[in-house]
Amino acid sequence: MSRHVLYVNWDAFDSRYIGRVPTPVLDRLTTEGVLYRTARAGIPTITPCMQTSIVTGAWPAVHGNTYRYFDQASGTVCQTGRENSAETIAEAAERSGLTTASVQQFTLRGRGTYPDNPQHLYVEPGGGMARRLQVAQEILRSGPAPRFLAFYADDLDAIGHNHQPHPDYDHHAVASTDSQRMARTLERLAEMDRMLGRLIEAMPSDTALVLTTDHGMVGFQGRSVLPEIIAALRAAGLVPEVLATGMAPATGTDLALTTVGLQVQLRWVDRPRQEVLAEAVGKMALAEWFGGVMDRAELDRRGAHPHFADCLLWPREGFHCHVQDEVEFPPLGGHETPLAGTVPLLLWGSGVRQLGPVGGPVETISAAPALAHLLGIRPPAQSTARSLPDALQET
Ligand SMILES: [Zn+2]
Repeated sequence: MSRHVLYVNWDAFDSRYIGRVPTPVLDRLTTEGVLYRTARAGIPTITPCMQTSIVTGAWPAVHGNTYRYFDQASGTVCQTGRENSAETIAEAAERSGLTTASVQQFTLRGRGTYPDNPQHLYVEPGGGMARRLQVAQEILRSGPAPRFLAFYADDLDAIGHNHQPHPDYDHHAVASTDSQRMARTLERLAEMDRMLGRLIEAMPSDTALVLTTDHGMVGFQGRSVLPEIIAALRAAGLVPEVLATGMAPATGTDLALTTVGLQVQLRWVDRPRQEVLAEAVGKMALAEWFGGVMDRAELDRRGAHPHFADCLLWPREGFHCHVQDEVEFPPLGGHETPLAGTVPLLLWGSGVRQLGPVGGPVETISAAPALAHLLGIRPPAQSTARSLPDALQET
C-alpha cells in the first residue's frame, strides 16, 4: 500500500460551529467519509498538551506535557513548553522509511520533520491558513508528495480568543460583543472550508485525510469568580493560595491553586484534607457560576498527568477564573476547561469507509493509530489509543 496521508489540525475547531455556516467541503467529506462530531479531548484542553496527545496517541500522563501545575517535590509552580517524551506519528513514519512533511504542526518540529531536511521537511510560514496553504501547495508542486503531510492552522483559535485585532482578516478592532466574536469565527470557518478544498485538490488522488483539533472554545466576560472559590475554601477552614508560574506557597498554605483563566487546579501542599475539600465543593456547586468538578480518580481515568491536580474545578460557560479579579472582562474566548473538550474528528478518502456523521464516544488520540493504519505502519511507540476500526478499511 502506498497511499498519501494528510493530517489537518484546525486549532480550536469547536464541534458546535458545524452547521452554523455553509461548509460545502466539510459536508462532502463527511458524506463520503466519517465524521465523529463528539470526539473527546483530554485534560487539560491547552494547545501544546492536546496537540502532543494527538500526534503521540497518548494523554499527558504518558507524554508529560501538562502545562502549568504545582510541583509538590520542588514546592513551586512549574510550566511545560514543548516537552514530549513519547514518539510522534511523524517519527514512526520516518522510522518506517516514509517521507514526511509538516506545515507548522509544531509538535513535529524536530520530531519526524526538520527544517532543511527535504525528505522530512518542517516549515513554519506563520500568518493565517491562506499563507500556509500556499506553502503546502509549493511543497506538493515542487516534487513527489510526502507520504505523510501534517498541516496546522490556528485562525479559529486567534479569532475565537478575541485578545487582539487581526488586520489580516479585516478585523481592525477586537469584537465588542460575544455574537460578533462568534460571527467572525464562523465567517473564518467558511473561508477555511474553501481552502481545505484546495489543499485536498493539490494532494495525489490516493490521499486519505484525518482532520481534528486540540480543543473547542467557550465564551466568557465580566468579573472573575476566583474570589468566590477562595472564599468558599476559606469558609471550610482551608488555607488556599493562588500561585503563578515560578511561585512557592507561603508557610501555612495547605492548598495551591493554579489557573490559566477558566478552570482552577487544586493541589495539596502537604497534608491532604479531602473530606473538608469535598464539603466546600459541595457548597460551591450551588452557586450560579459552578460548572463542574473532577477528583483525582476521574483525572486519572482521563489520562491527566499525576502532577496536574488533586481536584479540578471549572465555571460554566460565560464565567471565568482569571486572577485579575477587579477587572470587568470584555467578551473573550478560552478553552482550558472540560467544556471545550468536545471536538470533531473527520476521516475521508483512500482507505476510509463511508459512514457519514457518527455519534458515540471516541477520543481525539485515536487519530494517531488511525493515521498509522492509513500509512500502513505501526502506531507511535507509546500510543495507548484505540484505533477506529469502524471507520477504516482493512488494508
Ligand atoms: Zn489550541
